[in-house]
Amino acid sequence: MSHSLTAKTKYNFNKLQKRLRRLTGQAIADFNMIEDGDRIMVCMSGGKDSYTMFDILQSLQRAAPIKFELIAVNLDQKQPGFPEHVLPQYFESLGVEYKIVEEDTYKIVTDIIPEGKTTCSLCSRLRRGILYRTAKELGATKIALGHHRDDMIETLFLNMFYGGKLKGMPAKLASDDGQHMVIRPLAYCKEADIEEYAEHKEFPIIPCNLCGSQENLQRKNIKMMLQEWDKTNPGRIETIFTAMQNVTPSHLADNNLFDFKNLQKSDVAIGEGDIALDKVEVPAIPVGLIQDSEDNDVMVVELN
Ligand code: SF4
Repeated sequence: MSHSLTAKTKYNFNKLQKRLRRLTGQAIADFNMIEDGDRIMVCMSGGKDSYTMFDILQSLQRAAPIKFELIAVNLDQKQPGFPEHVLPQYFESLGVEYKIVEEDTYKIVTDIIPEGKTTCSLCSRLRRGILYRTAKELGATKIALGHHRDDMIETLFLNMFYGGKLKGMPAKLASDDGQHMVIRPLAYCKEADIEEYAEHKEFPIIPCNLCGSQENLQRKNIKMMLQEWDKTNPGRIETIFTAMQNVTPSHLADNNLFDFKNLQKSDVAIGEGDIALDKVEVPAIPVGLIQDSEDNDVMVVELN
């Protein structure tokens, strides 16, 4: 009995690992995230996402036809109770190149921001500056961050619901000064998979509440909304993510994205053409559910 349970667990884990590798590889290819000779600085916070990213990148590195280097970097922001031995021990056990950068941004932030106010924007700005500087010092050609599909979707709704912008989180981004390229190799991976993977692999997770910052209520609300949707409308999250990769600028209302003012009559259909005059037709089953069922992840709902 226990033998078959173990075999099943192993089978499921292998499937999960394969899926994460496949989706990461797919995102890397789709966005041309990694090129031959790249030296990638992998940002490690000690959370489940960063461990999973590093682990998957390592496995892809072993199998890839191109050569690239990985260097793990952790920024120790001197938050009270930060277990500074955990990441070095982990990297030593793997025998990989790593660097711990120590900067007391915690003190700077708590000195400047009055108690009870949100510290995240200053903290993350400081962190960004330090990471860019470190990338330069290390001669890194890319900076990899562990954000995943659900972070990207949450950001889309945060911007839409609170910021009035149709804007998500990019899978690949050039820094404003043109000096750095930021990549998010887990862009296609869902958080639940990463969570399960991290649990199986027993990564030495460092808690993320050490800074004592208030939880971002807006993000929490969005997360709850999406989780609720996922329960009540299977496939909806997948469909939203597909939509993010499937934009029709001529059928939105942004004059900067599509030049409506100078639009001329022509015989060439633009975007999806004038079918937008007709009643909007959408598939009976959300496209995300169809895709996901191909991956055997979700039960297909029978529609009568
Ligand atoms: S949660 Fe804490 S560590 Fe993270 S950005 Fe906000 S203040 Fe900084």
